[in-house]
Amino acid sequence: MTAQSQETFGFQAEVGKLLDIVAHSLYSQKEIFLRELISNASDACDKLRYAALTEPNLIEGGSELRVSLSVDAKAKTVTVADNGIGMSRDDLIDALGTIARSGTQAFMDTLKSAAEAKDKKKNGEDMALIGQFGVGFYSAFMVADKVEVVSRRAGSDAAWRWSSDGQGEFTIEAAERANHGTDVIVHLKKTEKEYLETARIETIVRTYSDHIGIPVVLTGAKDGEEDRTLNAASALWTRDKKDITADQYKEFYHHVAHAFDDPWLTIHNRVEGVLSYTNLLYIPSTRPFDLFHPERKGQIKLYVKRVFITGDTETLLPSYLRFVRGVVDSEDIDLNVSREMLQLNPAITKIRKGLAKRVIGELKKKADKTPDDYAVFWEAFGAVIKEGLYEDQDNAERLLEISRFKSTHADTLTSLSDYVERMKEGQEAIYYITGEDAEHAAQSPQLEGFRAKGIEVLYMTDPVDEFWMPSVGSFADKPFKSATRGGADLSKVKKDGAADDAKADDDTKNAETPKGFDVLVGAFKTALGDVVKDVRASDRLTDSAVCLVADEGDMDIHLERLLKQHKQLADTTPRILELNPAHDLVKKLAKLAEDKAGKDPVLDDAAYLLLDQARIVEGESVPDAPAFARRMASVMARGLA
Ligand code: ADP
Ligand code: MG
Repeated sequence: MTAQSQETFGFQAEVGKLLDIVAHSLYSQKEIFLRELISNASDACDKLRYAALTEPNLIEGGSELRVSLSVDAKAKTVTVADNGIGMSRDDLIDALGTIARSGTQAFMDTLKSAAEAKDKKKNGEDMALIGQFGVGFYSAFMVADKVEVVSRRAGSDAAWRWSSDGQGEFTIEAAERANHGTDVIVHLKKTEKEYLETARIETIVRTYSDHIGIPVVLTGAKDGEEDRTLNAASALWTRDKKDITADQYKEFYHHVAHAFDDPWLTIHNRVEGVLSYTNLLYIPSTRPFDLFHPERKGQIKLYVKRVFITGDTETLLPSYLRFVRGVVDSEDIDLNVSREMLQLNPAITKIRKGLAKRVIGELKKKADKTPDDYAVFWEAFGAVIKEGLYEDQDNAERLLEISRFKSTHADTLTSLSDYVERMKEGQEAIYYITGEDAEHAAQSPQLEGFRAKGIEVLYMTDPVDEFWMPSVGSFADKPFKSATRGGADLSKVKKDGAADDAKADDDTKNAETPKGFDVLVGAFKTALGDVVKDVRASDRLTDSAVCLVADEGDMDIHLERLLKQHKQLADTTPRILELNPAHDLVKKLAKLAEDKAGKDPVLDDAAYLLLDQARIVEGESVPDAPAFARRMASVMARGLA
């Protein structure tokens, strides 16, 4: 094949950067390059087995699918070969010249932001970071000064050689290969000769690749020595639980999930019945970067009788469990099921229900038994779980049981049933306040009255909270009620340590509405007009003079702001301005209103200034800043006069 000569290509810029990092090897465990290459080889065999379901003669000579490892001490190479699907010329250029894989992209992004904040603790952190990701094929350049890939796509006669020293370019040329599949030939750097030792290779395979479902064979180690299978060569999930070590579970997770953290939870079990299946599911310990990307799909691999069918089934778990990874293998699905028809397959629907139940059940166990550990999970995935509260009516109640919240009670998370147990005598609702985060929400003046009465308020800080609460409505017959909406009616709630109900009744409620208060309210209403929905005495303030609340039937203040930010809403509904009758300023204004029969320019200015003040405390901007400044100056000038 001399007609076609070598062609040279540049790596995509990102690959170049990645290779640079890899080559300067911040990675402590270079040996994982072998894991990555074996993982790819095994994936390639899975793909071929699936393709052969419809085109059996793709597998030439019906040969057994396997991964072969060999070393050449003279040439200083380690070769990872497979007889899987192989790559065409275009495949080689695409797959090995660009970063298509989202995980690697995420790695690059994280690395970049780490570099930006690098003055602190440089290298150690980078290293830990890299450990969380896998850099796949490119990891070969940690130990190689040159990598060659010779591949032939199943069903084609043409083979191609890809070659690169990892310095920005790679070449492609025609090649020969007897069979379909791929050889990855790793030319070891001078410093990396340890990978020529078969004992070393054997240990690495045992450690990282034992779970691979097909044989990983060491060939021609020494002259005359027979091929030796290094791994157990049975799919991990088919083995007995008691024969699987924690490390083996972990390595399988790395392989199946393309993730490099530790699994937070492993769920491995077999379901027998009309429909039998085995599931080996994992919940990651860290939140994947694309958890909230709309295009993010489920990550459960479906196998039928050990044959890999598909890797991106949205159908195997509801979307609020999209962080779960792993495999499901069933004997009771037709092997010829097409990927496209999966959604309509009744067996799949059944499995989906079963899996969702199982995952929620396991989460419940963790929540009950190890709340601290569960809190870690909740921080990472709670916001996603909550989507299920309105998406999955069947499981909503059980999801509510495993939901956790921050609250004014303590720094730790609380369950709703614990909240209900702490409810005060006379308290009828579960109070919550929404906000960007607990710290901001905690500063809301609307909480003052709740604090004074010792009433716990939940912080709802995930955008999704605004959606599930209206659809769920209540828990244990107690309605959810916003602390910033409607009448708080805290007067019925007994204050902590209060001797009797009579005394408890009006600690805050209109505590001595000062004389002239009604006149003041009237003057404010006249001044503000349509800008507010109402002006009234507040139940929920102790320290602040004013606050804004939404009317009972209106949209929650924070939800409204959220929607406005996202341009989903043009106008703001007028709110209710609540005045604290016990506040010194309000008392003085009431007196002035009384004396001047509600007619004084100061009342007019005060109405707007207090409204603007309430807005500022809410984190909003003042709609008419020049007017605000003018009023402020005029009121201050009068004070100085
Ligand atoms: P990932 O395995 O996560 O997709 P890699 O960097 O390990 O990322 O590999 C990139 C791509 O190269 C793979 O997705 C696959 O398309 C291709 N590839 C790598 N090794 C092989 C192989 N042995 N056989 C066929 N395709 C391969
Ligand atoms: Mg890979």
